[in-house]
Amino acid sequence: MEYQAKELFAKHGVPVTLGIVVDKAEDARAAAEQLGVVVVKAQVKAGGRGKAGGVKLAKTPEEAVEHAQAILGIEIKGLTVNRVLIAPAASIVEEYYFSFLLDRSNRSYLCIASVEGGVEIEEVAKTNPDAVKQIPIDASTGVDDAKALAIVEEAGFPAEIKDQAITLVKTLWQVFVQEDATLVEVNPLARLEGNVLEALDGKVSLDENADFRHPDHAAFEIIEADADSQIEAKAKAKGLNYVKLDGSVGIIGNGAGLVMSTLDVVAYAGEAHGGVKPANFLDIGGGASAQVMADGLDVILNDPQVKSVFVNVFGGITSCDAVANGIVGALEILGDEASKPLVVRLDGNNVEEGRAILNAANHPLVTLVDTMDGAADRAAELANV
Ligand code: GDP
Ligand code: MN
Repeated sequence: MEYQAKELFAKHGVPVTLGIVVDKAEDARAAAEQLGVVVVKAQVKAGGRGKAGGVKLAKTPEEAVEHAQAILGIEIKGLTVNRVLIAPAASIVEEYYFSFLLDRSNRSYLCIASVEGGVEIEEVAKTNPDAVKQIPIDASTGVDDAKALAIVEEAGFPAEIKDQAITLVKTLWQVFVQEDATLVEVNPLARLEGNVLEALDGKVSLDENADFRHPDHAAFEIIEADADSQIEAKAKAKGLNYVKLDGSVGIIGNGAGLVMSTLDVVAYAGEAHGGVKPANFLDIGGGASAQVMADGLDVILNDPQVKSVFVNVFGGITSCDAVANGIVGALEILGDEASKPLVVRLDGNNVEEGRAILNAANHPLVTLVDTMDGAADRAAELANV
């Protein structure tokens, strides 16, 4: 969120004004009394807050409370606003766009800069592509003095702020490298009255693979009260590789590749059943023990959007009989918690034994289907009720 990005920026010396975050409209009063003229800004992990009515200027503490009231609780791009930032209002002369990001397709880093910032950069890129400069960055040399100068010149930042811009570019690169970020974006980077540069907004994506180096990053994770956030937090606590999606067929598979293709197959099969879609990605990995299967099923069955579950397992190192025992054991562990139909497709190592175990268990919720397409179709059908 913006206020968190700004905290990170402040730590590295990027010019920002932190402001005060509140989650009750009435608390905006004290904040505004302290800060003077303020902007009340919705804090959600989405851009375009300004356009969505999530950024409002308040001249008095009374007005700050009114704006906070109006903004708290609204939805921006599907995200409910639970907190607002009360920030001292700035006198903006010009707005620029600036970012560093990981450019996967070119296997390097990229700087995107434009003197036409403030609005959505995707829009500028469409209507006036020449105004958006893309500058590749060599990962081994990074952004040194010469590169920072080249970026500032290419972007066309005005002469009055050139030196500040060079320093800022180098500082943002330090944020990017030292925090193990995959994105550091400032929009708008504002030129204020008196030719002062300041980051008025910030968006940072941190690379989770580097979390071990950054114990302080854990504090940035916010678990909202909404159902999706709760489900994802539960999956994370159980160490599951889970991503919430918005369909109604719960998915469990072993191996990321198999799960990805399961999502495709279910989405395809769903077209014949009222357009049902997968409800999640969940890879339970190699050892599909009863406990891991139970944890996975527990997370999925507690998603109110889920209507049916598709368990798609290809036995390799973990054989199908072990997985079948895992499923039977999981249903025992869950008892009445397991309340939605399960379509199971097993194949591979020890498949006959695996199917025999499930047939013998004869659980009323479980349907065995031999093929992946057939199972996807059945699961989609069961979800379309
Ligand atoms: P976004 O729409 O989600 O990217 O939110 P921003 O934080 O970028 O705010 C949107 C717009 O609100 C900016 O482009 C500015 O034009 C305006 N804005 C934000 N903060 C201030 C401020 O302190 N003073 C003034 N005058 N305008 C602001
Ligand atoms: Mn912005």
